[in-house]
Amino acid sequence: MLHFDNRLVRELPGESDTRNHSRQVHGAIWSPVMPTRVTAPELLAYSREMAQLLGLDASDLTSPQWVNALAGNALLPGMTAYATCYGGHQFGNWARQLGDGRAIFLGEVVNGAVQRFELQLKGAGPTPYSRRADGRAVLRSSIREFLCSEAMHHLGVPTTRALSLVTTGEAVVRDMFYDGNPTEEPGAVVCRVAPSFIRFGHFELPASRGDEALLRRLVEFTIARDFPDFSADPDDGLIRWFAEICERTARLMVHWMRVGFVHGVMNTDNMSILGLTIDYGPYGWVDDFDPSWTPNTTDASGRRYCFGRQPEIARWNLERLAEALAVIEPDHDGLGLGLTRYDDIYNKEFQLAFAAKFGFTAWRDEDAALVEECFGLMHRAEVDMTIFFRGLARIDIQAPALGTLHEAFYREELFAAHAAEFTAWLVRWASRVRSDDDREESRIALMNAVNPRYVLRNCLAQQAIDGAENGDPGMIHQLLDVLRNPYDERPGCEAFAARRPDWARHKAGCSMLSCSS
Ligand code: AMP
Ligand code: MG
Repeated sequence: MLHFDNRLVRELPGESDTRNHSRQVHGAIWSPVMPTRVTAPELLAYSREMAQLLGLDASDLTSPQWVNALAGNALLPGMTAYATCYGGHQFGNWARQLGDGRAIFLGEVVNGAVQRFELQLKGAGPTPYSRRADGRAVLRSSIREFLCSEAMHHLGVPTTRALSLVTTGEAVVRDMFYDGNPTEEPGAVVCRVAPSFIRFGHFELPASRGDEALLRRLVEFTIARDFPDFSADPDDGLIRWFAEICERTARLMVHWMRVGFVHGVMNTDNMSILGLTIDYGPYGWVDDFDPSWTPNTTDASGRRYCFGRQPEIARWNLERLAEALAVIEPDHDGLGLGLTRYDDIYNKEFQLAFAAKFGFTAWRDEDAALVEECFGLMHRAEVDMTIFFRGLARIDIQAPALGTLHEAFYREELFAAHAAEFTAWLVRWASRVRSDDDREESRIALMNAVNPRYVLRNCLAQQAIDGAENGDPGMIHQLLDVLRNPYDERPGCEAFAARRPDWARHKAGCSMLSCSS
């Protein structure tokens, strides 16, 4: 049995209204709400690492009691069900109250090592925050969230986790591209896990309503529960705490840029206060390197959330959080220092990460030009980001040859057209690497530790989805397995590291995704 200690509902004001209907919620952080029952829950996959961390083993999770709980059909002893209230800026505009429209908490587990984890069902039915939507999730988006959150964890990227993926046996109707073609899709529920699911938007909403008392309580609670190191200092506590959030967010952005992850919907309600990757929707992985690429069709015209703008947008989001905190923090300059910290940490960490990606012992100022030139070439020549960086470690720095990187090119004609330029760049790169004078093996090990061999390419996730929708979840398990050790070469798994195939170039789910999920 797990030990639950439900601090959020115990320490923060909640609603007493237990009726489940859409409404504006004032003066409360959470609303009690039960998941809606489903007819035929089936456990499709689970994360054994996450289960272990909670203190569960396979026989627990596969038991009818747990499968029922993970589908929202029953609460286990100690669990309590609620949804939380937040707002957010969506695509740059204030969207007022949003809230957990299809996420229902089951409470907070404290494991044997006294680590705290909130459990949350995504897709378990409507809540007071669902507005006119159904509170459900389709299988395809649930597979994407389940696989990607575990893959990110194993890549070393801060993220919410996924414990389980359960199909409901019920259909969900979605108009995938908002083009008047709604279809029935299989429904699913993911149980996701994080030390805290508190978002920037949780603070923005009471601030926007001038509810200083609620905002203050939420800040105090979040610092005490989620940032225990900060509780001790009452004076500049909030200022230092905001700077810590800025720092974590900066580190997260560097990770995303390092592994080629594009979130797709960086609204302030999708920004974690702990600096975790949260809310996997129309995210994507960069195949051919392109800073302007966005996986989200809703974002295709503005490209607000494209790959290359993520660090800038994260800072914009932090500015909105600073504005919210300014409602109760008179030292606005102090909050501004947090944003400066964001810039500093981002630059410093970017240089560390990209020095390692390129195999430099340490970043030198003059490396910026070499790196920029490489990005430009990769973009123009349509070079696969993951394959390129992994391949770079295999280049002979005494006699650099572009042929080693041939498999990273999507188009033969672009390979030919840019071969001379690329070779010239490689020669300069090799001489830069030789100037470091460290041992070959340690350089290669350094590069392979930051340049993944396997990432959850959109086309791979889509193949797992196609399989599962046709009754074969095998590829979900295969991907879960391969992505567990993303930096290790694994014989027999070449297909998982290959370029995006041509069929996936413009296919729904591979290059185009929508928020409909
Ligand atoms: P997202 O774009 O997924 O971050 O969601 C934005 C807001 O819409 C959040 O408040 C979600 O809880 C809500 N939402 C998204 N999909 C659904 C759904 N199917 N049912 C209810 N609420 C939803
Ligand atoms: Mg969201």
